[in-house]
Amino acid sequence: MKFSHPSADIFVPDASIAPEAALARTTHLCVAAHQDDIEIMAYHGIAECFGRADQWFSGVVVTNGAGSPRSGIYGSYTDAQMQEVRRQEQRKAALVGEYSIQLQLAHPSSAVKDRGNPAVQADLATIFATAQAEVVYLHQPADKHDTHVGVLAHSLAAQRQQPAAQRPKRVLGCEVWRDLDWLVDTDKQVLDAGRFPNLAMALVGVFDSQITGGKRYDLATAGRRVAHATYHTSHATDQFQGITWAMDLTPLVANPELSLAEYTLGYVERLKQDIAARLAKFS
Ligand SMILES: [Zn+2]
Repeated sequence: MKFSHPSADIFVPDASIAPEAALARTTHLCVAAHQDDIEIMAYHGIAECFGRADQWFSGVVVTNGAGSPRSGIYGSYTDAQMQEVRRQEQRKAALVGEYSIQLQLAHPSSAVKDRGNPAVQADLATIFATAQAEVVYLHQPADKHDTHVGVLAHSLAAQRQQPAAQRPKRVLGCEVWRDLDWLVDTDKQVLDAGRFPNLAMALVGVFDSQITGGKRYDLATAGRRVAHATYHTSHATDQFQGITWAMDLTPLVANPELSLAEYTLGYVERLKQDIAARLAKFS
């Protein structure tokens, strides 16, 4: 298996499996922008496959992790050293989470933000064609980080090029930079993120270079999941110990003509109608 960037990294935690076979057995696949995004947004998929022989989670990180903030023991690191730290942290997460394969494509953010970038497109097309996963976790389109939305757009384009029969059955847009609590309840895809809480903490915790500067992604991610579970419904008791919300992106893959912008703004419109209908009762 060959990817376009010379620094692309292929890591199979179980060294007895060849990379192609490790990718081909994938049932749950996450394609994310940066190191640590997978563990924040697609924990549901990791937990679904953890400790099982019949379901396999695989992760793809599209960018190289350059330009990330650094402090503490990483304060004097060069950009190249920092990229290596982040690559190793992502490998650690793959090991802890028992992923089938971890791919880090090492593209610069500028390539991801270039809509038609052929190298990014070719890599993702290879991955989707080989993996043929049942469930795919992507960034959600209302995320406020351009690189996240860029990776989402490339991923949708690559899946739309697949023969219809090979496209995933379920495609989910997941929360990182901007959560999805604002979706009206009927639009919410509920992902149980409360299983194996020790594993969940460890998976975000291995990214020390991101946390050490004072950004407690480990605590914030766990807290967001608990908050979603508690604030889901006002009357019922908590069904899950943690929830990650997702937006259903399956229609965008099934129908290549559907506009990502129009589809996303439809969710915003339904939120607007929900608020307006409630206020109308009291005015
Ligand atoms: Zn990110």
